[in-house]
Amino acid sequence: MKIVMLGPPGAGKGTQADALSEKMEILHISTGDMFRRAVKDQTAMGLEAKKYMDSGALVPDEVTIGIVRERLAMRDCAKGFILDGFPRTAYQAEALDGILGELEGAMDAVIYISVDTETLIGRLSGRRICKNCSALYHVSYNPPKKEGVCDKCGGELYQRDDDQEETVRRRLEVYNSQTLPLVGYYRDKGLLTEIHGNQRREKVTEDILAALGRSG
Ligand code: ADP
Ligand code: AMP
Repeated sequence: MKIVMLGPPGAGKGTQADALSEKMEILHISTGDMFRRAVKDQTAMGLEAKKYMDSGALVPDEVTIGIVRERLAMRDCAKGFILDGFPRTAYQAEALDGILGELEGAMDAVIYISVDTETLIGRLSGRRICKNCSALYHVSYNPPKKEGVCDKCGGELYQRDDDQEETVRRRLEVYNSQTLPLVGYYRDKGLLTEIHGNQRREKVTEDILAALGRSG
């Protein structure tokens, strides 16, 4: 299956993509994680991307589409994937249609996780990520067993620079102006299912699996 996770920053796209990836045994591809890895490795692309990420802006379409095109052409994507954080602009959505056409595939579903703004801010300010495996935690809603340490791999947890309040507000504005219009784009294509994201994590996963016809 080829699935896109759509929704504002903090909606739970990464959290749900991880859960679905485990249950459905398909890849979770996060453009944010790809960029953060490139920043950590100090590649030329990473250094370029960091300028945009730090200010809460989007990395330019040509860079982002380039890395996604390369990643989706890899053999391990043939069985399907869950795209998290891409597409984020109308141009990226059209490019994705083109890339999938080249690969002779098509999108199966777009899962739109909706969450109110106040909840998003609380989720982003408490988010913690594993430096090593990118597993997601929250200081209150999904704390690790041992503070600051990843349950899965023992890696160190950190707070993303762009989860500071001022950058969060900027990212939410960028989402509303550039990404939210994709809800209409995918609804018109008959691919969109809206999932109520203000519920506990397990219930959100259940609702998504049911929408994908995978429950039970
Ligand atoms: P996104 O990928 O959409 O930006 P994340 O999956 O990183 O969002 O989730 C943002 C934060 O909210 C994380 O700290 C995560 O642990 C927490 N979170 C995700 N889903 C829920 C939920 N249903 N209830 C409470 N907290 C959640
Ligand atoms: P995320 O981890 O999805 O919250 O993404 C973190 C940051 O990476 C974003 O704020 C952007 O700067 C950048 N980014 C991730 N995905 C994209 C994308 N599809 N297009 C442009 N920038 C992106």
